[in-house]
Amino acid sequence: MAIAKLIKELMNSKGSSVIRKMFEEGIQLKAKFGEDKVYDFSLGNPDMPPPEKIYQVVNEIAKDNAKDRHAYMPNAGYTETRKAMADKVNFEQGLSETNALNENHVVMSVGAAGALNSVFKAILNSDDEVIVPAPFFAEYRNYVANYGGKLITVKSKKDFSLDIENIKNALSDKTAAVLINSPNNPSGKIYSEEEIAELASVLNQHGKNTGRTPYLICDEPYRAITYNGKIVASVFPLYDNAIVVTSFAKNLSLPGERIGFIAVNPKCEDAKEFIAACTFTTRTLGYVNAPAFFQKVVAKCWNTDVDYSIYTKRCKMITDVVKNAGIEFVEPEGAFYLFCKAPLPTLDENKQHILKDGEDELCDEFAFCDHLKKFNILCAPGSGFGCPGYFRMAFCVSEKTITNCADSLKEAKNTW
Ligand code: PLP
Repeated sequence: MAIAKLIKELMNSKGSSVIRKMFEEGIQLKAKFGEDKVYDFSLGNPDMPPPEKIYQVVNEIAKDNAKDRHAYMPNAGYTETRKAMADKVNFEQGLSETNALNENHVVMSVGAAGALNSVFKAILNSDDEVIVPAPFFAEYRNYVANYGGKLITVKSKKDFSLDIENIKNALSDKTAAVLINSPNNPSGKIYSEEEIAELASVLNQHGKNTGRTPYLICDEPYRAITYNGKIVASVFPLYDNAIVVTSFAKNLSLPGERIGFIAVNPKCEDAKEFIAACTFTTRTLGYVNAPAFFQKVVAKCWNTDVDYSIYTKRCKMITDVVKNAGIEFVEPEGAFYLFCKAPLPTLDENKQHILKDGEDELCDEFAFCDHLKKFNILCAPGSGFGCPGYFRMAFCVSEKTITNCADSLKEAKNTW
């Protein structure tokens, strides 16, 4: 008996498995010290309940004895659900009737993760490349590797906005797609319309030069969660070969229900074939179709929201706590993560926790996250997100967790 070499490698890779490991350690620490003595910022698992309307609709659907309620369906999902998702995208992206999506531009998926896997399975030949600006959601590595693809990571600018020149230099005739995530997990950055337009022009030019125009995949599960009135740019009016993947895990607090979708720009050169391919891969990956019950729920609830003002409040609270501890961070524009710079050690005479990154000195953030654990503070090291020297704090946790960790965080910083 032997586990596949690639799976062993991916399972044991320090960066990407560390977050789940941390989440599990958190459960053990809470059992040992008590819930209120452990400050678990490791995972983006929303703690707010779904909006009341979800429960009303769940009850309505449960009472409706429709014959097809639990049956197989077309692999792309229920027609009425796909119509509702097309309405959602048309509304969010401000598309007029001539550019609008309809149900034939949507495939329902098993969350955003399932959507990305269906898309990569559909578009990647072995050794094809997917370019992603760092920092990025750690699982992208695994999703691309699942289909023999290669994730090419490129540095962003210091403020984590897109470095278009770096993306341009990474393009090759093997580039199948560029993958962006805005608002970004873990940096909270929202890419501006100007950045997306500039990227679109670089990708179009690359298509003209090589005959292969990359897809631009926009992973948008945090689209609705923004701060200070920031708006997420609409990609479809800016780039024809654009795809949106998303889910209701974060905006409706439904991560365990595994419901999301893939939407293709009607102007995409092979939109019809792309949808047919994603429908096929949804089937052959063994998903068969997205969960039936929650397809019916989101068809009726897509324009409902949780109370995002709670995240705004927590964002302010955690930035105050981290600032007070003397730790630098990137001001989040959206999502619910704080991306912090691991402080350089002051007590380490051997400087053994200092790494060199070109001209810059960075802290070994794994060592700093281990140090935080001594204070029962759990955070995710930045290497998994392609950014050594940083760590992520997910603030979809109770206000008590944020305020109660203030002294411990300060002490951790002062004893580092
Ligand atoms: N993409 C990003 C950027 C995420 O942060 C996550 C989950 O945290 C996912 C995709 C996966 O989302 P889902 O739970 O809907 O599969």
